[in-house]
Amino acid sequence: MPVVMPHDDKKTVLREIEQERLVEIYQHSQALIRRVEAIITPSVERIADLFYTEMLTIVGAQPFLNHALVDTRLRLSLAEWIKQLFLPQTKEEVYLHIQRQREVGNIHARINIPIYLVHHGIRVLKRECRQLLIDSNLERNEMATALSLVEELLDYSSFLINESYFNDIIINERSAQALRMNTINQGLAMDCERLRSLLFDWLRRILTSLYQTPAPTLQQLPTIFSSDFGLWVTYKAELLFIDHQQEVDHLKAQLIKINELVKQAITLRDTNSIIELGATINNLNDAVTHSSWFLSSFINHALEMESGRDPLTHLFNRRYIPTIMQRAIRISATQNAPFCILLLDIDFFKKVNDGWGHDNGDAILIQVGELLVTHVRAGDFVFRYGGEEFLVLLNDINLDTATHIAEKLRLLIEKHTFYINKTIPFTITTSIGIALHEGHPDYSVVISQADGALYQAKEKGRNRIEVANNLLSNPPTTA
Ligand code: GH3
Ligand code: MG
Ligand code: MG
Repeated sequence: MPVVMPHDDKKTVLREIEQERLVEIYQHSQALIRRVEAIITPSVERIADLFYTEMLTIVGAQPFLNHALVDTRLRLSLAEWIKQLFLPQTKEEVYLHIQRQREVGNIHARINIPIYLVHHGIRVLKRECRQLLIDSNLERNEMATALSLVEELLDYSSFLINESYFNDIIINERSAQALRMNTINQGLAMDCERLRSLLFDWLRRILTSLYQTPAPTLQQLPTIFSSDFGLWVTYKAELLFIDHQQEVDHLKAQLIKINELVKQAITLRDTNSIIELGATINNLNDAVTHSSWFLSSFINHALEMESGRDPLTHLFNRRYIPTIMQRAIRISATQNAPFCILLLDIDFFKKVNDGWGHDNGDAILIQVGELLVTHVRAGDFVFRYGGEEFLVLLNDINLDTATHIAEKLRLLIEKHTFYINKTIPFTITTSIGIALHEGHPDYSVVISQADGALYQAKEKGRNRIEVANNLLSNPPTTA
C-alpha cells in the first residue's frame, strides 16, 4: 500500500522542515541507529513496566492508566512503540512513522489525557534510554552521538504526538460546542414554535368567544396566565434564561397587558361598544403578535449568546477570546509555533450607518464576517471583537505570512461589492493591525499590540495594514 503523506490545510513550512529533518536523521544515521537499537530493544519490556509503575505514582494519572485492560495493552504497545522508534529506514517508512505518532496524539486527545502526563512519560523514557546507553560498551564519542540521537528521536515523536493531540482537542471542542448548540437549539426552537402556535390558539379562542352567544363571562375564559405560553413565561423562562431577566420581565409585562386588554374587551362587548371593541381587539392582536415575535427573537438571541456565537454575524463572540487565546498560547509554547493576531476595523463605518441606515450597516457587518471566515484557514478563528471590529487569530504562522494574509483580506474587502438595500453597489475599506505573539503568557498583551498597530493604520490614513513593532516599542523586561 503506498504511503501518502497526511495533508491538511494547516500544513506549514515549519512542519515540512521538521519532516525533512526527521528523514535526514533516519537516512544518515542508520549505522548508529542499529547500534542503539541493539542496546535498547532487549530492554523495552522492562522500560514499559517501569514507565507504568512510575506514572501511576503521579497524581492525576490513575484515571488514565489504572485499568486492567490499559495495563496489559498499553504496556505492550509502549514496548512496541519504543522498538519502532529505531525501525524506519526509507523516506516512506519515516512518513509512516510520522503518521503513527500522529495517531498516538489522536488517541491521547480522545481520552483527553493531560499534556503534562505525556511530557512526564517522555521524560521517563528519555531517562531510561539514556541510562541504558551510558551502561553500554559504546565508546566515548559514539556514546555522545547516540545520546543526542535518542534525545532527538524522542523529541520529534513527542512534538508530533502533541501536535495532533492539540489539533484534535480543538476539533473536539468545536464539535462539542456545535453539538451543544444544536441540542439546546432543537429543544428550545421546538418549544418556541409550539408556544407561539399555542399562543395564537389561545387568541383565536378568546376572539371567537367574544362573539359567541351566550357570551362566556371573563371567569369562563382561559386567562393568558393559565395558557401554555403564560405558564412557560411565568415558571420556566426565568430559569432557562438566568442572564436575560430584562427580556423575561418584558414578556411578563406583555402578559399583564394582554390580560388587561381581554378584560377591557369583555367590558366593551358587555356594554355593546362595538367601535371601541374593534380597536381593543386590534390592540390585543398586536400585543399577542408582538409577544410571539419577541419570544422567538429573544430565544434565538439567547441561544446564540449561550453557544458563543455573535447573534448578528454568527462569528465567535468575544467572550470566547480568553478560552481560545489561552489555548493558542499553550499550543504555541509546546510546539514552538508562533501565532498572530489581526485586528480589523471598518473605516468610517459611522458614515455607512448615517447615510444608509443601521440595517444596511448590519448587512455589511454580516458580509464582512462571511468574507473573513471563508478566507482564513480552517484552524484559524474569527471573532466579532466589537461593533465594526473583528479579531482574527492565525495559528501556527510567522509574521511575514500573517502580514500577507492581512493584506489579502484588506484587498479582498476593498474589492468586494456590497449592496445597499440589495440593489445599490457599495464599497468599504478596512484598516488592520497585526501583532505576533512573542511568548507572553497573558493574551491581552498581543491583542493590545495589534490594537496599537490598528491605531497606527488609522493615523496613517486608513485602508492599510500595520505591523506592531513589538520588540522596539516594548523592550523585553526582566519582569
Ligand atoms: P474609523 O475609520 O475611525 O474606524 O471610523 P468609524 O466611523 O468606523 O469609527 P467609530 O468607532 O467612530 O464608529 C464606529 C461605528 O460603528 C459607530 C456605530 O454606529 C457603528 N456600529 C457599531 N456596532 C454596530 C452594529 O452592530 N451595527 C451597525 N449597523 N453599526 C454599528
Ligand atoms: Mg471601531
Ligand atoms: Mg471604524
